[in-house]
Amino acid sequence: MANGLPSLVGLTSAEIAQAALGGRDDARWRARQIAHWIYRKAKDSFEEMLDLPVGLRADLAERFRVQPLHAADLRVARDGTQKLLAHGGDGEVFEAVVFPTPQRVSCCISSQVGCPMGCRFCATGLGGYDRNLSAAEIVGQYLALQRLVDRRISHVVFMGMGEPLLNYGEVLRSIRLLHDEVGLSYRHITVSTVGIVPRIDDLAREGLPLHLALSLHSPFDDVRSSLMPVNQKWSVRESVDALRRYVAATGRKATVEYLLLDGITDTAEQARELARLVRGMPCVVNLIPFNHVDTEQGFARPRREAIRAFRGILESQGVNVTQRVERGHDIAAACGQLAGRHTGRLARRRSRSELPVLPS
Ligand code: SAH
Ligand code: SF4
Repeated sequence: MANGLPSLVGLTSAEIAQAALGGRDDARWRARQIAHWIYRKAKDSFEEMLDLPVGLRADLAERFRVQPLHAADLRVARDGTQKLLAHGGDGEVFEAVVFPTPQRVSCCISSQVGCPMGCRFCATGLGGYDRNLSAAEIVGQYLALQRLVDRRISHVVFMGMGEPLLNYGEVLRSIRLLHDEVGLSYRHITVSTVGIVPRIDDLAREGLPLHLALSLHSPFDDVRSSLMPVNQKWSVRESVDALRRYVAATGRKATVEYLLLDGITDTAEQARELARLVRGMPCVVNLIPFNHVDTEQGFARPRREAIRAFRGILESQGVNVTQRVERGHDIAAACGQLAGRHTGRLARRRSRSELPVLPS
């Protein structure tokens, strides 16, 4: 809810027919028109829905609003990247980023306000956790970003704030809406997870050809545990095994995200062990040089030669490697740098560092 009126974003066409057009004979047909304006054309007012009777537009505008989100801030980077700071009416802010490139337009969206996983290198994790986002707020980010750019956003990654598999139901609902109503391919939707093993198995059972990315960041349990509290619950081996099961169940190639931290995760020994760990699995290792975040440990990005050497070892072992293209530097739009600007709330969150309650 925002402005006192419920939003239609988050509802399927069939649900719009029920919720907004209940008594009408033409409810299903009108609902499909409305859904088309909302999801395919990303319109945010009923007045723009030109093929609806004027009276119906006015009636809908009295009872509903189209979009669920309010923009709190918008930053535009020199390379065309735009970062939207949004809230759903309660002042809890979260971020979404759109990246236009010559080949395609993709976006990175949030699944939670903050994140309870507490990864030591991540601005969101260091800030703590406020709440899950609803499917409406998740799809609303896509639609709000689509209104900022001329070309269609064809790819979505869940790499903004939050751990998507800890908000499983709403994330899955948002994915179905992005597919069924917006018209995106499941193959162009990437869920990135820190490794919530039982939820990876649940996702594999959904039978959707989604792209899954596992944030591994070290092949060694001691290193990974020192960076990511989740590793105390599910080890490197358990997480990678879950990824293998996902790949086997869906037939999709997976991505292993690998964060390069100077002197910590970028050693030759780890490159060799990583290659051994992923051997035989259809996957790509995506190297992410650390994006600067102030941390207690003073993490730093490795030098270019160190990154090249790490990559070289993987490639010499036959591993497919990509490297994260850096975009939106001047507006801190990169992975791990998204954090609410509500400093009071951030300060409070910093006192939390215990392991969150995780599914078993
Ligand atoms: N919670 C999910 C998705 C959001 S984080 C996950 O962890 O996978 C998206 C990616 O950004 C993850 O791979 C995460 O490890 C990475 N990341 C976090 N902080 C970062 C930083 N400071 N520099 C580079 N990547 C970072
Ligand atoms: Fe959460 Fe992902 Fe950041 Fe870890 S890296 S704290 S799981 S958002």
